[in-house]
This record gives sequence, structure tokens and C-alpha cells, in this order.
Amino acid sequence: MRRTIVAGNWKMNGTLAGSVTLAEDLGRKLAHRLPNRTLPVLFPPAPFLLAVAPHLRQSGIAMGAQDCSAAVAGSFTGDVAASMLRDVGCSHVIVGHSERRHLHGESNDVVRSKAAAAIAHHLTPVICVGEDEAGLTQDQLEAVLREQVHGSVPPDVVAGSFAVAYEPVWAIGAADSASVRHIDLAHSIIYSTLIGHLGTGIADATPILYGGSVNSVNCTDIFSVDTVGGVLVGRSSMNADEFVALIAAAENRRQPAATGGGAVRAE
Ligand code: PEP
Repeated sequence: MRRTIVAGNWKMNGTLAGSVTLAEDLGRKLAHRLPNRTLPVLFPPAPFLLAVAPHLRQSGIAMGAQDCSAAVAGSFTGDVAASMLRDVGCSHVIVGHSERRHLHGESNDVVRSKAAAAIAHHLTPVICVGEDEAGLTQDQLEAVLREQVHGSVPPDVVAGSFAVAYEPVWAIGAADSASVRHIDLAHSIIYSTLIGHLGTGIADATPILYGGSVNSVNCTDIFSVDTVGGVLVGRSSMNADEFVALIAAAENRRQPAATGGGAVRAE
């Protein structure tokens, strides 16, 4: 069975008490319907990871961090090593989110190094890519995504060790998501780029998530796209009812295609 990933990025929001309450709330709402065909993952702010970890674990929700250092350890004030994230119970880490690329000037090279550090410490990096502007031609979209995937995905990965999140920057924090047609096109470009870069075996084992204004209303349409292996959400992960609705929609979706960015295989 292949599981659809429902990933929620809390970004730099909330308080310690509020984060624990949200995690507890999710636990209560999921108590009688633990996800089976879905892999939910939440990415709280780093200082709250330890406090929310037990609540998420109880609810069958995996935990991830929003970023990691490319370095192993040492004089990197303010940075957090992948090994430290693993130590506090993370299984995943987001790398190359557009906010890191834009606000912190992270290049594809930096993102690739962070993804490699994550994999080396047994974390699954969710490697974010996506064009800045809406309305690109297909050729332009292909050029942007191919460059980002080639530059950001380490060349020596093994099958199943990472995920890609397609997040068109213009659709993040917007009124609505990209159209399902656009999502399918972009995911197909990413899938064929992964085949060229790493081979069919690795491409087939790589879930491709869509992110950008996904919510409980539009998620059913998005989950109807076979190349969608999951979603990465911002705002909709800060509300327990909304996040549970996304999980329910993922649980109820028709089984995604076996290849082409489909969901991750259950362990
Ligand atoms: C994001 O920031 O990655 C994101 C997808 O946010 P939102 O769901 O709020 O658009």
C-alpha cells in the first residue's frame, strides 16, 4: 500500500503552550481513526519539538523540523544539526523552502548539502522546489524545475530516502491553490527530471508533494491527481479540524498511481 503524505509546516508561529494544545487536540480528534493510508507529518518550530513529540507520537503523526544545517557540528551559532533533530525524535526535515531560499539566500547547492546531511543522519528531507511567478510557459516552467531538481537533490541518494515538495511560490499564502492541471504538469516535469537525474527506480520511490494554499475545500481535487503523493500545507496545519480534514481526504482518496510521484510505500 502507498501512503499519502499530509505534511504541515507551522513555520515561526505560536507559543509553547499553544503548540502542545494543538498537538493534544489533534490526538483527541484522531483517537478513533488513526491514519492508515496516510502519513501525517508536522513540522513545529524547533524550540517546541521536544514538548510536542510525545503528543504527536501517540496520534500516529510523524515529526519533522523546518530546516537543518549542512554541517555535522561545530561553530555554527544558531544552526541546528540533523543529528540533533534525529535525537529529539524527528524523522523528517524540510529543506529549501522558498522562504529559506528567498529570505536567507539559500542556493540549490546549500539545499543539496542540507538534504545530504539529513539523509546521512537518517532523516527524510522534503526538498522544496517551485517557480516564483505564475504564468510561465511550459518550456520556462520545465527549465526552472529541472534546474532546481538537478541542483537540490543529491546525486547519490537511494530509493525512498527523500521527498520533493512542489511549491509554486505564487500559490503560497494565496487565496487558492494552483490548478490541478498545473500541478499535474509540474509534477510530471519533476518526475521525468528525477528519472533523468537518478533513474526510474528512485523516481518511482519518490513522493512528490504539492504545496500552496491547500485546504479542506480544495484538497479532494488535488488528491484526485495521480501524480500527487501528498501535500505540504502551511495555514491549514495550524487548525486541528482543518488538518484532520486533510488527513480524512487523503485516507479516502482513490489509490494513487504506482509511479510518477505517487505516495510513499507504507513500511
Ligand atoms: C507553505 O508556506 O509552504 C505553504 C504551502 O503555505 P500555505 O499552505 O499557507 O499556502
